[in-house]
Amino acid sequence: MSYVSSDMQESTEPRADESAQDGLRRAIDPSQVGAERPSSREVARETVFRIENLTAYYGKAPAVRDVSFDIYGRTVTAIIGPSGCGKSTFIRCLNRMNDVIPSFRSEGKILFHDVDLQGKDVDPVSVRRRIGMVFQRPNPFPKSIFDNVAYGLRILGMKDNLGDRVEHALKRAALWDEVSNRLKDSALALSGGQQQRLCIARAIAIEPDVILLDEPASALDPIATASIEDLMHELKEDYTIVIVTHNMQQAARVANMTAFFSISGGEDGSRHGVLVEYDDTEKIFTNPSEKRTEDYVTGRFG
Ligand code: ADP
Repeated sequence: MSYVSSDMQESTEPRADESAQDGLRRAIDPSQVGAERPSSREVARETVFRIENLTAYYGKAPAVRDVSFDIYGRTVTAIIGPSGCGKSTFIRCLNRMNDVIPSFRSEGKILFHDVDLQGKDVDPVSVRRRIGMVFQRPNPFPKSIFDNVAYGLRILGMKDNLGDRVEHALKRAALWDEVSNRLKDSALALSGGQQQRLCIARAIAIEPDVILLDEPASALDPIATASIEDLMHELKEDYTIVIVTHNMQQAARVANMTAFFSISGGEDGSRHGVLVEYDDTEKIFTNPSEKRTEDYVTGRFG
């Protein structure tokens, strides 16, 4: 493949007048989200990532241990779980973003369209070209709006029709109408929500297959969060989306599939993240198989 050898914030707290269970029921009310979120069983599943026995370490301590599951194409997959269970570590494994941390190493396999992402002949920069990432805090460069979106295109030599490519990416990120008449203005003058959509446009511009989002709305207000969530519904038509979120209602609204991670203790007293349950989002939130999942989604733990 081409990448071988050559990259409404809403509190999870229940409202004052409702229980945590009611809050979750509201979050997964089909009249709010269900119509937009077909069960992944209803759509053909194409495996994009196959994760096999992944253990990720910082130094000697495993941050996540023995994680195995498949992530499907044109689907939103949410990673949820308590703080410190390894959600960020896990999602960063999917595009080798942890490679830059000297103490990091991993065991097991991550197959991306059947290619071993950690293979010796796989160039991490090329991986990140196919698998883009958007972070918790919007991080536009101190450049113009246009130059932010064009940045990766220029580096990759995708300079033909640059203006059209930038326009297309801004339209896909639902930002074009707000910025089309000020493309030369500094990106830093945009609101937080606009900056985050700009970062999504920057990720989209280089035409990745996958977009990884690590708590993309946690620094945004409810209206900006809603627009990011709407955007995810649009983008999953064309991209595979994986999102880390601490906000269970957000997971229930946007994700087809949900992976619940939690923290387990080793015999030596160490603590590490594990995948407890992975299934259709509706099943995870209404009828989970594991008691630990039920305790978490009903607010009894975490
Ligand atoms: P989450 O995203 O679920 O909050 P993280 O993946 O950030 O969890 O962290 C999982 C564990 O890995 C935690 O114990 C955290 O302290 C540790 N960790 C995360 N990043 C690093 C790092 N760069 N160096 C050492 N330990 C880290």
